Amino acid sequence: MARVYNFSAGPSVLPEKVLRKAAEELVEFGSTGQSVMEMSHRSKEYEAIHNEAEALLREIMEIPDNYEVLFLQGGASSQFTMVPMNLMIKNRKADFVLTGQWATKAYKEASRYGQANIVASSKDKTFSYIPELDKSMFSKDADYVHICYNNTIYGTKFTEIPDTGDIPLVADISSCILSEPIDVSRFGLLYAGAQKNMAPAGLTVVIVRKDLIGNAMDITPTMFNYQIHAENKSLYNTPPCYNIYILGLVLKWIKEEFGDLNKMKEHNEKKAAILYDFLDSSKLFKATVNKKDRSLMNVPFVTGNEELDAKFVKEAKEAGFVNLKGHRTVGGMRASIYNAMPIEGVEKLVEFMKEFEKNNA
Ligand SMILES: *Cc1c(COP(=O)(O)O)cnc(C)c1O
Repeated sequence: MARVYNFSAGPSVLPEKVLRKAAEELVEFGSTGQSVMEMSHRSKEYEAIHNEAEALLREIMEIPDNYEVLFLQGGASSQFTMVPMNLMIKNRKADFVLTGQWATKAYKEASRYGQANIVASSKDKTFSYIPELDKSMFSKDADYVHICYNNTIYGTKFTEIPDTGDIPLVADISSCILSEPIDVSRFGLLYAGAQKNMAPAGLTVVIVRKDLIGNAMDITPTMFNYQIHAENKSLYNTPPCYNIYILGLVLKWIKEEFGDLNKMKEHNEKKAAILYDFLDSSKLFKATVNKKDRSLMNVPFVTGNEELDAKFVKEAKEAGFVNLKGHRTVGGMRASIYNAMPIEGVEKLVEFMKEFEKNNA
């Protein structure tokens, strides 16, 4: 069976070259005579893999030295708790912009630990746009402002980093990390689950400004304390070693295939435009998101007829385009076109959509 084009929102497609390299090294890694899965996380061999992944991430994302890079577990969802426990500490107050389900979950979880304020929301139009934000909207005494930079379910993204002045900005970048350059220095903390653009599920990356850690709430479990992980170079306990190894391979793939994140962005813009241009010209399919706020990674679309949507998803699957069904809460379709989705996959999908449109006119 040939590989399909996988448009899953997560876990999602990994670069085929990375999978082949991992397969090649699966049983014996280099001259170690062991699989990376079997290595002690305290061994020299593993230490090299761990440090290389961190160094590559720092290089590719241009992460300044005053930021810690942490390799954690628990998914982006654990960060909905870890962020408030570690950062909501001076005034026990934080501001939230609700742009979808993940942003809302982050808000709800934080409200268990302090005062969580909603400063803006796009719920009125099913999260199909990013609200306009102005510095004056944020609480002067908020410990941080939280946003979800790319909204995986609804297919929107921030095109500008909100200006929060001196208040640290925290962003969930699970579904857009490594898809384009991001100025890390504008944020207090960034976090991302690995299973969209980095590695298999099980690894969570946190990038946090060093001065923001070390004052976690007393109730914070040891494993939820950033300081503990920072002091131990993400080796306080057993890290998700194999996933970190795959992250290293993915980062090397980005360097080799694209060079840097500017090139990655150009590639992603070109790729997304193929789909959006078709959706904007189609008589059957329609994109659901405000043009200016469209995600480069997650592209929701509908026909306007649920039966036809279901027929499309079914026929697409038979033709080798899988996981195109929209999120269970929004319906329709969604094509997630992360870094590892080749341009050819989107071109072929559009050809298939044109054919479907002709046959169902
Ligand atoms: C997938 C996703 C999450 C949830 O990630 P888990 O690793 O499953 O906890 C959170 N936020 C965003 C933006 C996501 O895309």
